[in-house]
Formats: sequence, C-alpha cells, structure tokens
Amino acid sequence: MASRKIKRFTQSYLFRNIETIFLVFLIITLVAGMTVYFSYGLNKANKEMHSLISTSDNEYLFREMEKLNDNDLLLTEKQKEIGIQPLEFTIYYIRRGDSLNKIASKFGINFDSVVSVNKIRNARSLIVKRPILIPNQIGIYYRVRRSDTMTKIAKRYRRYKVTEEKIQKINDLDSRDLLTGETLFIPGGRLTRNQREKVMGLEYAIPVSGRVVSGVGYRRDPFHGRWNFHPGVDIAAPYGRKVFAGKSGRVKLACWYGGYGKCVIIQHRGGYETRYGHMSRIYVRKGQWVRRNTLIGRVGSTGRSRGPHLHFEVRYKNKIINPFRYHGLNRRMWWR
Ligand SMILES: [Zn+2]
Repeated sequence: MASRKIKRFTQSYLFRNIETIFLVFLIITLVAGMTVYFSYGLNKANKEMHSLISTSDNEYLFREMEKLNDNDLLLTEKQKEIGIQPLEFTIYYIRRGDSLNKIASKFGINFDSVVSVNKIRNARSLIVKRPILIPNQIGIYYRVRRSDTMTKIAKRYRRYKVTEEKIQKINDLDSRDLLTGETLFIPGGRLTRNQREKVMGLEYAIPVSGRVVSGVGYRRDPFHGRWNFHPGVDIAAPYGRKVFAGKSGRVKLACWYGGYGKCVIIQHRGGYETRYGHMSRIYVRKGQWVRRNTLIGRVGSTGRSRGPHLHFEVRYKNKIINPFRYHGLNRRMWWR
C-alpha cells in the first residue's frame, strides 16, 4: 500500500516536476536567448563605434590628415566669403561614423576650429551623442600669455590674414589691452602642426609592436612588491623585435643607463625627450640625428627588467608625461 502510494506520489510529483522543469527550462532559454541577442547587438554597436572612431592603426588618421590638406584651398575661399561676422555657435550631437573632418566640412569650417572650440584632446575618442559646439566661422581659441600683446598675436597668425582689428572686433573688445589668461577667438587662425598631430595621436610613432602591460603611474614594483612610481609605458614584445624612434631628434644618450639597461634617450624640439629602455641592442650613437621611425635598437631585458619588453618614456622639461593622456597613443595593443 505504502509503496504504491509512494509510487503514485512520485509519479504525480515527477509529472508535475517535469512540467515545472520544462517551464523553467523554457524561461531560462528565453532569457538566455534574449541576453545573448541583446549583448550581441550591443557588442556589435560597440565594435562599430570603435572601428569607426578609435581604430588601432593610424591609417584612418592619415586619411583624415590628407583630407585636411585637400580642404585647405577650399577653406581659404570660404574664409574670404565669411569675412568678419559676429561669432555664433550651433550645437551638434556626434553621430556614429562621424569624424571631426566630416563634421567640420558639414558646417563649412575646419578640423582645427572644431578641436579648438571644444578643447578636444584626442580625435580618436569621440563619443557618440555628445554635444559639441560648431562656430559659424573658421578660427581657434587662443589663451593670452603674460608677454602677449595684440600686435604679437596678430603677427603670429599673420599668414591666416589675422589683423589686430579683426581680433578686437570679433571679441568685442573696447581696447587692445589684454589680460593674461583671457581667451580670444582668432578668426581664421589655425592650430600649429604640432598641436594638430597631438590631437590626432600622431605626435609619436609607435616605438615597438606589442602589448602595453604597464602605464605611467603608481604600481607595485615587480621586484620587491612595494608601491612606486613607474615613469613610462611598458610594452611587452619578443626579444629582438625592432625598436623605432617615436619622433625626430638628437640622440642624447645611447649606452647602459642604470636600471634602464641598454638605453637610448632622444631629445626632441620644444623641450621633449623620449627614453627607450631595457634594449638588447643599440643601433645609434650619441649626438646622432634620428628621424621619426629610425631603427634605434632591439627589444631586450637589460637593466632592471623581468623579461623582454620596451620601457618607453616621454618627458617634457624633465617632467614625466603620460603619453596616453597627452599624445593620443592607444592604450591597448600597439601595432606598427
Ligand atoms: Zn618600465
């Protein structure tokens, strides 16, 4: 009796259970399916955004650079046409697939104007849907330095037909006296080549192909585990891989240099220098001029190093600089 009862009970219970199991299974499948579907969609969108905006190769930026040069003629025409009129702005929301050049040419202005007005530091990291300001004319912002006068500023931008009168008029100034730190709009002004390259992340060539394993900042020392400041970027790469100069300059040091091991230091214009550490071989001499992308040595593990990698360091007036933050270099993989 008891066993039959149990049997009946288990049967009905099982039966009910199978139903529930089936139902639960169905719900799980549905939820899982939806999750996969949506995350795939999101992933795809993300990937699209990345491929459009932060491509890891420089090709996109070089193309943009070329376009920029093509635009130049067209823009001077436009500039003439615009002349001086009150400075006005419109708001534009960045769309998927936009580049700064695309946006600029949509509004008949140029890359420099969009960058300067919006203080854009990295042309690769545009954010979709973010609003940016579009000036109604070509020009850039300029921050007045202590030693500046209106005459000096006008002279600096003379080749863009900037005059003192134009600056005064467009900025609604009563006199030509300037305040240090004040921001002026320079009608027709352009960024310097250096500024433009910085924004485009082209200021430094990638010194070696590899994976960035450590950036600038505090980290646990790989030797004794205590926190200390890491002044450069570590790029893991196989022993013997070629190392290239990031920018043109003069070799300041090319020898063993303490913890850096076999090291090259290159001095660039404007107070910048780059350091390349832990190399296995050095191909340049002190005092030699190198160009951007000159082969300077090979990856090694000399000095204070735990395995083959390149230590790449950027300094400005001997102050350590984060090349990711200021020079638009990509944080993930470095391919050249
Ligand atoms: Zn390092």
